[in-house]
This record gives sequence, C-alpha cells and structure tokens, in this order.
Amino acid sequence: MGYQVLPLRWRWRKSLRQSAAAMSRAVGNRPFATGLAGTLIAAAMAVLTFATLLSGRYDALEHARETSESLVSIISSDLERTVETSDLSLQSIVEGAERSDIWQLPVDVRQSVMFDRATTAGYLGGAYLIDAEGKVLAVQDGKLNPNVRLNDRDYFTEQARNPSLGLFISHPYRSRLRANDWSIGLSRRINRADGSFGGIALLAIRIDYLQRLVDRVNAGRVGSVFVVLDDGTLLARKPFSQTDTGANIAASPTFHQMTSQQSGSYVAQSSRDGVSRIFTFARVPGTPLIVAVAPAYDDVLQPWRRRSLFVGALTLGFGAALVLVSWCLAFALRGKVEAEAELTRLAATDPLTGLGNRRVLDRRLDEEWRRARRLGTALSVLFIDIDHFKLFNDTYGHAAGDEVLAVVAECIASTVRRPVDTVVRYGGEEFAVVLPDTPGPGAAKVAEKIRATVEAVKLVRHSSTQDERVTVSVGCATCLPADGMTALALLAAADERLYAAKAAGRNRIRSVVEGVATRGTLYS
Ligand code: GH3
Ligand code: MG
Ligand code: MG
Repeated sequence: MGYQVLPLRWRWRKSLRQSAAAMSRAVGNRPFATGLAGTLIAAAMAVLTFATLLSGRYDALEHARETSESLVSIISSDLERTVETSDLSLQSIVEGAERSDIWQLPVDVRQSVMFDRATTAGYLGGAYLIDAEGKVLAVQDGKLNPNVRLNDRDYFTEQARNPSLGLFISHPYRSRLRANDWSIGLSRRINRADGSFGGIALLAIRIDYLQRLVDRVNAGRVGSVFVVLDDGTLLARKPFSQTDTGANIAASPTFHQMTSQQSGSYVAQSSRDGVSRIFTFARVPGTPLIVAVAPAYDDVLQPWRRRSLFVGALTLGFGAALVLVSWCLAFALRGKVEAEAELTRLAATDPLTGLGNRRVLDRRLDEEWRRARRLGTALSVLFIDIDHFKLFNDTYGHAAGDEVLAVVAECIASTVRRPVDTVVRYGGEEFAVVLPDTPGPGAAKVAEKIRATVEAVKLVRHSSTQDERVTVSVGCATCLPADGMTALALLAAADERLYAAKAAGRNRIRSVVEGVATRGTLYS
C-alpha cells in the first residue's frame, strides 16, 4: 500500500507546483490585473461586511421589538385578568344589590353576599355600593362615610346616563374615601325593579398597582413604559413623575398611532425630551387601556453601533491595506516584467548596430523554416560581408571601422522593409538577412538593392594608390524547405555564394535566379 501513497503525493506536489508556476506567470504577465484583483477582493469584502452589519442592525431592531411585544403582552394579560376578576366581583355586588331582601339580612351576611373575597385584593382601593344619589350604602371593609357624595364622578354619571353601559372604567381620580389615593374606578349599574337607575357597584383600583406593574419592566436607560387610556389620559408611567398621573398625552405625536390600531410598533420622537423611541403597544382586550413599552432607539442600537464601528474600521483598514499591497505588488511586478523584457531584448541585440544578433538569427531562421515547410513557400537567406574591411580598420582604426559598421547596418535595415524580414549582425563585419516567402529572383533583387545602397552612401576608403568606396558583397540562397534538409544548409549555401562573389571581384551579389523551384531544391 505504502508504495502507492508516495507517488500520488508526488503527483500532487508536482501539479501544485505547476499550478503555482502557471499562476505566478499569469500574474507576472498582467501586473495591473493583480492590483485590480486585490482591489475587487477588498471591495467585495467591504460590501459583504457592510451587508452583514446592515442585517445586524435590522436584527437588533427586530429583537428589541419582539422583546417589547412580549413585555406588552405580559402586562396586558395581567391587566386583563385584574379587570376580569374585578368585573366578576362587581357583578356579584350588583346581583346582591338587586335582591329585594338584601337589606333584611344581618349585616355580616349581607356583607358576605355582596363582597366576595376577591374584593380584598391588595391592588384594590375598595369595593362600594352607591345609591342613586351618589351616597355610599355599603363598603367592603364596613367603614361607611355618610358625608361623602360621589355623584359627580364619571363612573357614576356615565352609568346613570346609559342603562346598557355594562362595565365602565373611569378616568383616574383622587379618592375622597381613601385620603386622596390615586385610583381608577370600575363600575356597573344597578337597576331598580322598574329598570330605573338604582345606583352603582364600584371597585377602585389603585394607580399604585399600575405603577408597580410598569416599574417592574426594564426598558433601558431612557426607555419608557406606560399604561394609558384610549383618550390619551396617562395612568402610570416609568420613569415615574408626580405630574404624569391624569395628564393627557392625546396631542403627542407619539400617541397618535396608538388610537388607530389594536397593536403595533413604530418609531417616534418624544416632544417632551426629544428622544426617539421604538413604541410597541397593545390594547388590553375589552378595556379602554393601552399598554406601551418604548425603549430608546439609541439604547437599542448602541451595542450594534459599537460593534459596527469596530468591524467597519477593521474592514476598511484591512481592505485599504490589501489594495495598497496589491498595487505595490502590481507596480513591482510591472518593473520586473519590464526589466526582464529589456534584458531579453539586450541579450538578443547587438549593441554596436542595434540589430539582432546570431541568437535572433537562429530563432527566426528556425521559425521561418518550419513555416515555409508547412505552407510550401520559398525561404531566402542573404549573407553580407564588407569588402576589404580589414584594410579600412588598419588605416583609420577600429573606432572609424565601428562607425562604418553602424552605417552599413543602417543601409541594410532600411532596405529590408517587410515586417517578417529579419536583419542580424552575424559577427565581425558580416550580416545576414532572412526573407520569408521570397523566391530566388526576389532575394537577388533585395541583395542588389543592399549592395547599391551601401555603395551610394559614398563612404570613401583611401588607399595609397586610389580612393575606393566602402562596398559589400552578398551571397543569396533560396529553397523550398523539405524533409531531410536543414536551415543551416541554406545558411551555408548563402555563405558559399558570398565567397563566390568575393572571388569574382567583390562589390557584387551572387545568386541563382533561374531554374524551376521544386520542393527540396536548393539554389546555391
Ligand atoms: P574581404 O571580406 O573583402 O575579403 O576582406 P576583409 O578585410 O573584410 O576580410 P576579413 O574577413 O579577413 O576581415 C574582417 C575584418 O573586419 C577583421 C577586423 O579588422 C574587422 N572587424 C571584424 N569585426 C569588427 C568590429 O566589430 N569592429 C571593427 N572596427 N572591425 C571589425
Ligand atoms: Mg570582409
Ligand atoms: Mg569577413
């Protein structure tokens, strides 16, 4: 088994190395793509992070709303149950009061018939039976105060006015029977046998109970919790303020939306303290009471803001660093690519003439040989040598010789114009030209043009006996490449023709211009 694992790992490593090399080559060749990729990645990261942060903000608000909803629901159920039990007690007082024999019963029996045990609950301020004139006829604790009249209270007047009112929940008032204690009254009408108004049964619920209910709820630093009547009369509020009870907030923009719906949630700014709060409210079923929990908007979002600031700053910092690094890398890579290209160019260039060197000749000749063989086209090569150059050098020195070399190179390069043609300095005072897709006669024409151009420059070489111009001799060779032949043989043939030109007296070209060009034929 072991011998299988190892080669597999090697193969893995090899392909990894190859991929890495391919990647670095791809990146190295496209420096700006590197910078752009870095920038795009940083931008994508930033967009992702900000999208996540935004959804975090939504979650924070949603969570606060859900928490408020649960709190509202708990307070509302508590109130609903209280009102329900109180109503049962009220109904039992009404039933008792409507019995014709009730006043014949002994006091203790009468009390227990009228006031059940629920009327002794701590949150109640008292349970009363009140006659049609507003005078208290019976009290749950038995302590009657004959001087008090209650016929001006809304829980009394409303019941007197409307026989089918049922359960009525009053506005808050300061109790005349219990030392100014803030209360709300729950009342039911008592009918006489003929259906006329016979008084009311009254239960007073202490505002204190409502205040304790809202005080228990934590709605944050500047959050608010309150119970309000649907006409805007405030019953209890946290944070507590003496002036709150009985105050009317109907005109407040924060209250407006509570009147139009059963329950809901919205953000509004308080006109009292200028704080924006998220109000979540619900009506207590079957009552005019509305419960609202309103944590401050800033309190809810503060942890999210702190986290976002931290994460956002980090993302921007890292993103900026990534962009910076990728662009630094891009510029460094561009420098490297340019330096490499320059080195490659220098390695292939002859410094004196600016022409390509032998390395270029080898490469281009090889390329064009293959292409010519593939396409079945003729390929020509010229070999050019300056005549009696040794003599020139010996007479004027190497510096002047170098100048002549540069001028001759310029003459050749300016004559050979087709982009696919290649002119190189072969070595010393010898040059070579590769002419793709050029048959023998065409090559001879180019050769002759080169010879004539150099001669026309009138570079004069003095000798002791006569002045002579600097001239060149050119050897041409052309072939249709075929199997079994090499480009080197073509080059050697051109060289051979060059020596023939020298032997024939110099300043001339030698080539084969006639004959049928068939594949594999070498004209030399
Ligand atoms: P021919 O070709 O006409 O037979 O005579 P030649 O004098 O040109 O012949 P040969 O090939 O023997 O001489 C080449 C001379 O070219 C040798 C050297 O003095 C000169 N030479 C070669 N390379 C350079 C070079 O880079 N700079 C200079 N100034 N001269 C060079
Ligand atoms: Mg020469
Ligand atoms: Mg030579």
